[in-house]
Amino acid sequence: MLKDSFGRVATDLRVSLTDKCNLRCTYCMPPEGLDWLPNAQLLTADEIVRLVTIGVERLGITEVRYTGGEPLLRRELVDIVARTVALRPKPQVSLTTNGIGLAKLAGALAEAGLDRVNVSLDTLDRETFKRLAHRDRFEDVVAGLEAADRAGLRPVKVNAVLMRGINDHEAVPLLRFCLERGYELRFIEQMPLDAQHGWNRADMVTADEILTLLQAEVDLCADDLEERGSAPAERFLVDGGPARVGVIGSVTRPFCGACDRVRLTADGQIRNCLFAREESDLKAALRAGAGDDELAERWIAAVRGKRAGHGIDDPSFLQPSRPMSAIGG
Ligand code: SAM
Repeated sequence: MLKDSFGRVATDLRVSLTDKCNLRCTYCMPPEGLDWLPNAQLLTADEIVRLVTIGVERLGITEVRYTGGEPLLRRELVDIVARTVALRPKPQVSLTTNGIGLAKLAGALAEAGLDRVNVSLDTLDRETFKRLAHRDRFEDVVAGLEAADRAGLRPVKVNAVLMRGINDHEAVPLLRFCLERGYELRFIEQMPLDAQHGWNRADMVTADEILTLLQAEVDLCADDLEERGSAPAERFLVDGGPARVGVIGSVTRPFCGACDRVRLTADGQIRNCLFAREESDLKAALRAGAGDDELAERWIAAVRGKRAGHGIDDPSFLQPSRPMSAIGG
């Protein structure tokens, strides 16, 4: 088991398949992009599957989420998914993506056994999309969402980050867009994980504000507070249900006490928290010939050292040196 010193058990593995992305969302990276990891530093598909296998077969991982960067940019994605789905006990396998290219790949991913997708969409306005993501790809994302739904990758979840003065007037339209199509929308508070270090708490649209914006037009009733478990989103029934909306208040309503996540970066580092400042290098050990027992031991040790909380509110908080795109969101 991957148990930390506070008794939390990590069962949800987020695996970044690449740090590269084809969007430049302002809350994540600068318009010119970043210095991507050289290919030789990325885990190969076989290395990824080997580590995920250790996680599932020996360490109690029950859920695997492929992410990035943009995971659809990884050519071996369908193969990696198929090999993950074949593990026993079979983990839940999902994908977080910006949706660009999903229109082509959704069918193959569903056939490979992918359970579902989270697609990021922050605006319904093409011009705002261009301003926010520095790319004119709004239609591709919408087509990706539709393809995911058709392929049965349900529930299709939509992730949205609201930014003050840019898209915060779109909370209700985004919700209506998702309700009409049967997608489950989750708003995520903007976190200090941008490469430019431009995050400012005062500018952040808080969970409370998001709820106020929504409640101006719909009735929200807290859904499964008792059943929330380790889920990051607080969920609310919309107008009596059954449709729901989620709000992930990572900053103002942290859920570290129930966190069951552990991350593997595209270059083979275990991170026990999104905001961790230390990483454990499994790739070096793996490439030096470590056996599965040794890799599992290193992984266990990495999780044991997890801190009680991310500490964003602590005066001594330091933003991690890697941005979200390099960690795996
Ligand atoms: N490229 C994929 C995508 O767009 O979903 C996967 C990676 S992306 C880093 C994963 C999620 O993290 C997206 O929903 C994105 O909106 C969110 N994200 C990125 N930077 C963030 C930040 N600073 N605060 C909150 N969420 C962020």
